[in-house]
Amino acid sequence: MEPKYKRVLLKLSGESLAGKQSYGIDFDTVLKICEPIRQSVAMGLELAVVVGGGNFWRGRSSGKMDRTRADHMGMLATTINALGVADALEQLGVPVRVQTAISMQEIAEPYIRNRAVRHLEKGRVVVFGCGTGNPFFSTDTAAALRAAEIDADIILKATMVDGVYDCDPKKNPNAVKYDELTYMDVLNRNLQVMDSTAATLCRDNGIPILVFNIDEPQNIVKAVCGDKVGTIVKE
Ligand code: UDP
Repeated sequence: MEPKYKRVLLKLSGESLAGKQSYGIDFDTVLKICEPIRQSVAMGLELAVVVGGGNFWRGRSSGKMDRTRADHMGMLATTINALGVADALEQLGVPVRVQTAISMQEIAEPYIRNRAVRHLEKGRVVVFGCGTGNPFFSTDTAAALRAAEIDADIILKATMVDGVYDCDPKKNPNAVKYDELTYMDVLNRNLQVMDSTAATLCRDNGIPILVFNIDEPQNIVKAVCGDKVGTIVKE
């Protein structure tokens, strides 16, 4: 098998790392997700990961807390996940570096774009923690931003559903799945693929987004090889 792309940005939601327990990290689940990452890198793909933090904390759901402080907590949560993913990759023999948008040099490299690209060129996976480093943003936006910065060919957005639907497939059995959408479809119809900041950034920089189900981790390899999986959002 051959990868279709040279460089991809994989967005893993925090939820995807929690497994059935739906909170925190289920390390066996993380290992299962990291195995197809290993396979993809072994095929010569350059792969960077942006991790979410929703399995621990989301700033926007913090209730009475000051939003900025709550978002700082959310960014710390993404860093816990980044370290978990890095550990799983290392256990599978994949060279990996963690870079955080907020410096915590004792546990990770600070985010330096050129350095991240150099790691990728050397076959290392780079896991980005702390999102964009700014409150009021999401890790989807961080994925769009980092993808633009490192010149990724595509964002692979791993989710808990097998693509984008016209309504919630968990609530409506007649929900229709789209194979292909434009950025404008996502923005105008307010489809819950990613927030509008992230979608706009992808549109402005022409970065396609493939939304697929991570419940079957092997979908990562399928997506990387260009097999038909999930929903693609592009121009
Ligand atoms: N966050 C932030 N700035 C960013 C990215 C994330 O403040 O650039 C915070 C925010 O509180 C968010 C939390 O980190 O709720 C976790 O990220 P997200 O909700 O995107 O995680 P996911 O839903 O993908 O697991």
